[in-house]
Amino acid sequence: KFTRNMSSMKAIVIDKTGGPEVLQFKDSPKPKAEAGQILVKNHAIGVNYIDTYHRKGIYPVPTPFIPGAEGAGEVVEVGSDVTDFKVGDRVAYTGSKSYAEFTPVPVLSAGKIPDNVSYSDASALLLQGLTAWTMVRDGYSVKKGVHAAAGGVGLLLCQMANLLGATVIGTVSNDEKAKLAKQNGAHHIINYSHEDTVARVQELTNGEGCHAVLDGVGASTFETSLKSVRRLGTLISFGNASGVVPPISIAILGEKSIKLMRPRLYAYIATKEEKDKWWGELFQLLADKKINIEIYKTYKLEDAKTAHTDIESRKTVGKLLLEFAN
Ligand code: NDP
Repeated sequence: KFTRNMSSMKAIVIDKTGGPEVLQFKDSPKPKAEAGQILVKNHAIGVNYIDTYHRKGIYPVPTPFIPGAEGAGEVVEVGSDVTDFKVGDRVAYTGSKSYAEFTPVPVLSAGKIPDNVSYSDASALLLQGLTAWTMVRDGYSVKKGVHAAAGGVGLLLCQMANLLGATVIGTVSNDEKAKLAKQNGAHHIINYSHEDTVARVQELTNGEGCHAVLDGVGASTFETSLKSVRRLGTLISFGNASGVVPPISIAILGEKSIKLMRPRLYAYIATKEEKDKWWGELFQLLADKKINIEIYKTYKLEDAKTAHTDIESRKTVGKLLLEFAN
């Protein structure tokens, strides 16, 4: 047990995997910036679906651990050999342990944010924005098809694919999400809680199917996605919101010669050059006002449980953030 003093901080800690109740708000040792790291005082912390996979153990992390894959704040300490950052810099980062007052961040995972971009916007954009942008630029030069179009990644994908000239078909589970996805660039909406996705896609594409389907929903939509891709099309399966896609035989791709991709953002930003390229392009889109950030709600860090319950209950749209109020 730690008492609150200069060497402790508040954080969400997971001692054992499980439901939202395992997210405990408590005192934790305040980290230091080791060599090659900066210590960030978090002002905005992004909630991402991946945080629920870590919490549940779908993506195993040794316990106990502080969850959270993204944040933005000010640099309060720099490790030895760090030359790119100084105390007081405004930064955002992807990585780990962001559900806390302070997070140690390897310099490769961090970047300065422009003066006119708020911590909230930076944290709302970064991880989901990089995910969406790398998929539409590299995974496939998108033409059609986005699942969970009103989610964090979904809304950004709709905007980016639209920007690149695609005809975007978005799937959503309710009318409010349909409206928002349309406002964010989806040309057509399929409400997959009561519409037949495959039939509607055929109707909208003259019976040919989508050039590309981007599916972050996972288990419950994989088959539909496969059926919705056209001959020689691409299926990008980038998440498991409804559960992990069961193992498949690659032979099922043969009928239509489908390209199947399973991207992870971190593979795209593994070197400084790659990170600088993708971050640069993403923040340029924001500077040019080509993308709009939709923040659903900012929760207190101690209410991380509620944020997880909300995102898993499918009632959220756009981005969820956490903040630590002193
Ligand atoms: P979202 O804000 O999109 O929330 C998830 C959405 O998934 C829900 O709002 C819901 O939309 C839909 N959904 C469909 N079925 C279910 C279900 N059974 N339970 C819960 N939700 C369901 O989250 P994010 O934007 O943070 O993430 C979206 C996806 O992108 C996730 O799968 C995530 O893992 C993935 N991702 C992958 C990355 C990568 O590197 N590969 C990086 C970042 C995110 P609706 O109600 O409209 O169906």
